[in-house]
Amino acid sequence: MKVLVLNSGSSSIKYQFFDTEKNLVLAKGLVERIGMSSAILTHAPIGKEKIKIVGEILDHSIAIEYVIAVLLSKNHGVIKEKSEIDAVGHRVVHGGETFSGSVLITSEVMQALKDNIELAPLHNPPNIKGIEAVTRHLPGTPQVGVFDTAFHSQMPPEAYLYGIPFELYKKYKIRRYGFHGTSHLFVSNRAAKLMGKPLEELKIVTAHLGNGCSIAAVKGGHSIDTSMGFTPLEGLLMGTRGGDMDPSLILYVMGKEGLSLSEANTLLNKHSGLLGISGESSDMREIEAAVNEGNKKAKYAFDVFTYRIKKYIGSYIAAMGGVDALVFTGGIGENSEVVRAAVCENMEYLGLKLDENVNKSRPDGEVLISEGNSNVKIYKIPTNEELVIALDTEKIVSEQVLQSVK
Ligand code: ADP
Repeated sequence: MKVLVLNSGSSSIKYQFFDTEKNLVLAKGLVERIGMSSAILTHAPIGKEKIKIVGEILDHSIAIEYVIAVLLSKNHGVIKEKSEIDAVGHRVVHGGETFSGSVLITSEVMQALKDNIELAPLHNPPNIKGIEAVTRHLPGTPQVGVFDTAFHSQMPPEAYLYGIPFELYKKYKIRRYGFHGTSHLFVSNRAAKLMGKPLEELKIVTAHLGNGCSIAAVKGGHSIDTSMGFTPLEGLLMGTRGGDMDPSLILYVMGKEGLSLSEANTLLNKHSGLLGISGESSDMREIEAAVNEGNKKAKYAFDVFTYRIKKYIGSYIAAMGGVDALVFTGGIGENSEVVRAAVCENMEYLGLKLDENVNKSRPDGEVLISEGNSNVKIYKIPTNEELVIALDTEKIVSEQVLQSVK
């Protein structure tokens, strides 16, 4: 099946076009600066020249039109007819309590997505725009929504309830949801494969460390706890988000600095985290470079970042009653040997022994980075959320086809 996978953000759309039978990515690309006269479309087709187009792309509908056009283009395309796009899979950030797995998009599902906008005001509206644009330009093509929250939907109440009046949970669905679910699902499955053991029998801690960061306790193939909560703000320190903090501090700062709700939101989402502490950058490569130059605030940022991950690993080992594997993924998890080394330092008593040489040697791909005699296996595994979305889309669309012929 040929599946177009879309990740629609507020001003960008990332896409990958899969041939699931041949296990191939036929093309991938990115539309950036949607809404501007100088939008950029970068398109990389398999076996053909990569192209970059700059021009006016004012909304998501036009962006999707361009994506379809480059997929069909004579020189840079990979298909001849629109009808060769068998299905479209969308990354949808927030499924709320409504969706515990991927779904075929119907008008009822669209309504439910709109009902969930309040839970993810920054993320769900562009996801919805992406779906509407595909409906317009590829009418009749089945579409599937794959939710960042779904893998965490079986967390037990003790992991998802906050210590606030229960009525607030009932009234406004204020609870912990968790995000990055497709990534935690993918890398925990890959770790089980690499270990040659059934996922159902394993306890795995998965650390997704990118611009956004989250960590999950995956027991028997289900996420039983994760660090992001009601929104992606909770948990680990991230590029520009501060993660866990005393909620009263924000009320205090709002009072002292006279901040409005939206300014407070910007402070928490855009000006905190690595950037906030270091005052330098939200990018781990730049933080590492600044640490090497002796920058003290960058070192604080680095230390808070790695210490917090270490604390979560300890708490998830306690929550699962043990651990078989620790997986690092995401731009930082896959590439930063110094972050991995700092996180794993002094964890031998828990059975985690990092092989410092393998950790440093930067081989590509999936790598076992623990010592041979480490009780707990430590891996770095490149995540592939798009593949999960493509395969889920194929599965759901195939089931639909089967049902319709019954
Ligand atoms: P996103 O969450 O936006 O998908 P990524 O998963 O690409 O982001 O992660 C981006 C982060 O990965 C940035 O902080 C970047 O500095 C970091 N990163 C990428 N390569 C390296 C590297 N070689 N060393 C340290 N950090 C890296």
